[in-house]
Amino acid sequence: MTRPEAAWQGGWYTGARRLESPNFGPRPPGAVVDLVVIHSISLPPGEYGGDHVQRLFTNTLDWDAHPYFKSIEGLRVSSHFYLRRDGSLWQFVSCDDRAWHAGASSWRGRDNCNDDSVGIELEGLEDQAFEAVQYDTLSRLCRALAQRYPVAHVAGHEHIAPGRKRDPGAQFAWSMLQRQVGWPAAFFPPGTLA
Ligand SMILES: [Zn+2]
Repeated sequence: MTRPEAAWQGGWYTGARRLESPNFGPRPPGAVVDLVVIHSISLPPGEYGGDHVQRLFTNTLDWDAHPYFKSIEGLRVSSHFYLRRDGSLWQFVSCDDRAWHAGASSWRGRDNCNDDSVGIELEGLEDQAFEAVQYDTLSRLCRALAQRYPVAHVAGHEHIAPGRKRDPGAQFAWSMLQRQVGWPAAFFPPGTLA
């Protein structure tokens, strides 16, 4: 018998490759995890396929390996998930814990979105389109998240930290995600659905 819980081992999604990050903490008591935050990332920006993002999230990035890395030297961040251009999925922090992806942020009337959101980084760049297979994996993941957490909102980093962040950017197809995952339009940021 298949139960929804089969997709999860605690806060770890069984559809992802697990690589634990030390960059996390407990969620505040009583946190209601009802927000999914979509990001994009590539290191260096626009270069795909390497292992620099995994290294950043596990504090093993060689800051001298590329001139760009000097601009983020010492950064200690994480995301729950990292979804590559080929659709493969990595998880760094249990979704029951608080990952460090949002920074100063506010959405649906609440600040500090790290407290009660799940962060998903798509391998990409603000002004480039994402791969179809990334939407496939993303929609599967979002459906699984909604089985375990009371998800009622999804937003980009650009929406929860406007003026400070631009990801995932104008090329992210919110309408495609909405069609594939089947969530109500009210879950999505105003103006993102065609
Ligand atoms: Zn971001």
